Amino acid sequence: MSETLENLLQENRQFPPPDALAASANVTAAAYDEAAADRLGFWETQARRLTWATPWESVLDWSNPPFAKWFVGGKLNVAYNCLDRHIEAGRGSKVAIHWEGEPGDTRTITYGDLHRAVCQAANALTDLGVAAGDRVAIYMPMIPEAAVAMLACARIGATHSVVFGGFSVDALAGRIQDASAKVVITADGGYRRGKPSGLKPIVDEAVAQCPTIERVLVVRRTGQDVAWSDKDLWWHETVEQASPEHVAQPFDAEHPLFILYTSGTTAKPKGILHTTGGYLTQVSYTYHAVFDLKPDTDVYWCTADIGWVTGHSYIVYGPLSNGATQIMYEGTPDTPHRGRFWEIVEKYRATIVYTAPTLIRTMMKWGEDIPAKFDLSSLRLLGSVGEPINPEAWMWYRKHIGRDACPIVDTWWQTETGGIMISPLPGVTATKPGSAMTPLPGISADVVDDQGQSVPNGGGGYLVLREPWPSMLRTIWGDDQRFIETYWSRFEGMYFAGDGAKRDNDGHLWLLGRVDDVMLVSGHNISTTEVESALVSHPSVAEAAVVGATDPTTGQAIVAFTIPRGHVDSEGEAGEALIAELRNHVAKTLGPIAKPRQIMLVAELPKTRSGKIMRRLLRDVAENRSLGDVTTLQDSTVMDLIASGMKTGKDED
Ligand code: ATP
Ligand code: MG
Repeated sequence: MSETLENLLQENRQFPPPDALAASANVTAAAYDEAAADRLGFWETQARRLTWATPWESVLDWSNPPFAKWFVGGKLNVAYNCLDRHIEAGRGSKVAIHWEGEPGDTRTITYGDLHRAVCQAANALTDLGVAAGDRVAIYMPMIPEAAVAMLACARIGATHSVVFGGFSVDALAGRIQDASAKVVITADGGYRRGKPSGLKPIVDEAVAQCPTIERVLVVRRTGQDVAWSDKDLWWHETVEQASPEHVAQPFDAEHPLFILYTSGTTAKPKGILHTTGGYLTQVSYTYHAVFDLKPDTDVYWCTADIGWVTGHSYIVYGPLSNGATQIMYEGTPDTPHRGRFWEIVEKYRATIVYTAPTLIRTMMKWGEDIPAKFDLSSLRLLGSVGEPINPEAWMWYRKHIGRDACPIVDTWWQTETGGIMISPLPGVTATKPGSAMTPLPGISADVVDDQGQSVPNGGGGYLVLREPWPSMLRTIWGDDQRFIETYWSRFEGMYFAGDGAKRDNDGHLWLLGRVDDVMLVSGHNISTTEVESALVSHPSVAEAAVVGATDPTTGQAIVAFTIPRGHVDSEGEAGEALIAELRNHVAKTLGPIAKPRQIMLVAELPKTRSGKIMRRLLRDVAENRSLGDVTTLQDSTVMDLIASGMKTGKDED
């Protein structure tokens, strides 16, 4: 690979923060100066937003990189910080969670209610023999008990490992075995696409392969029939009968809080370990800063699943440590109709929505008449996470969801970083569609070339983090060597995230997708993101995935898989004409070097369970290989459809 990534896409639109938001923002531009003057002092100030039982002796021990210790000697309890202290401050009757089940059943849970449930669960787990340091697997639908289970583990110092409720027996068993978990917390099932979908049968099969599991705690959600063994206990017969009195003990700042396996887009999932004090400090601060939460008036909704890091940091620990009121939704966006999300926003008068580009592009495909049917006037701030957001998807989000009035925060971070790293500050930053803009105060991100040298403005390369940060991963569970090799070996003294990025002429950062996906076309390193964004900027396109396929003349050639928007006629000759138009559109937007050799019009793209496009499978198709590992794929039939369409795809000049 040559030194840098091409910088092809030009974007000149820019949106300053709304005056009212800027005037009342939680965090102002001064934070950048404070952090620049004294980075560690800045993080100490943010740590003081939490309640510590014992203060730390030193803020950072970086004497044995890459193994960091933050807030050395400090002690605190995460659940106390998320619950008890709000109740002690008189906010026990404030709503913590407005929960909406997929069938339309609802629950309203105050901080007092949540505290009671967490204390009961903490007592029940202790009675089952779970002690500080033990691992507990959580395999749940999006019901409040999922958050209760996590907080109960945190409260007693047990390490939770949440496994997304859509994963298979093998995925669950592998994660339980890797962490040697002692207990699994699950439910009989959850509602998905209008039907009860079973979780307990999957747990039963997994547990049969996992001798470390002593107990299985089962929440009754759907009431479906389940097999029962002598390891199994009902939640309502144990947790709900337990004492609601529980005094939280403080734990060391470096006590393990959770293990979470990365989504597996690129390789075998890695068990990312996060600890207590630094994690909560950064997650709590970034939630306050990036979402500008006003606890008395905001109603926040993060649409992620609790099984992903976004659910950990920005449903459970960030919002609750800040005393937020939030919405939690069990189901899918199209059940029972495609307006369900916007109906929920209208119903609860949501003010802040945090979602993923995949969802926004799906909404683009379905058409703007759907959100237009709902009153979205309560919204004041929108967020995006998970993939690069294409500028046109950003504009669509701003216009059709945000009424051209809400700032958008495009937040770059990873399971490994624990909390948000690069993002606009909504009251400060004049945002650009498609750019995550600048590192947050206290974070030092950079874009470097092959040799680890910073690229100048206008250049592209590898995204790195030059200094440790409080919510950084501490290791890969059980595999320090893989931790060092994966993240700290590519560039001396820097964390390498695996993502490509560019710095524009104003110094703002643009994420360009994973470096593994970069295409080498006639000696140029071209990012998938820029070509995809160029395709999505055409009014007929909702979504696009681009890969580099081996080509005899150019080394690699660009092959694009494109989903047309709902209203577009893409059959037969109309489809051929659209393909020709799109190829020219990309060449015009980015230059002839980026013109796709081939464009396929498809109905769906292969995505991970967290909704990210899995390009490596498309590369297999484009190069006529048999498919690689598909176990983390959302819907494996998609690949058959794409592969059969490929044979009739167009291939010209
Ligand atoms: P795996 O590491 O197993 O392949 P994953 O990287 O998809 O899985 P996550 O940690 O959930 O798992 O995702 C982090 C990645 O998501 C980032 O490295 C980046 O590629 C992408 N990402 C997240 N947020 C953004 C964003 N705002 N802009 C661009 N890319 C983003
Ligand atoms: Mg990753």
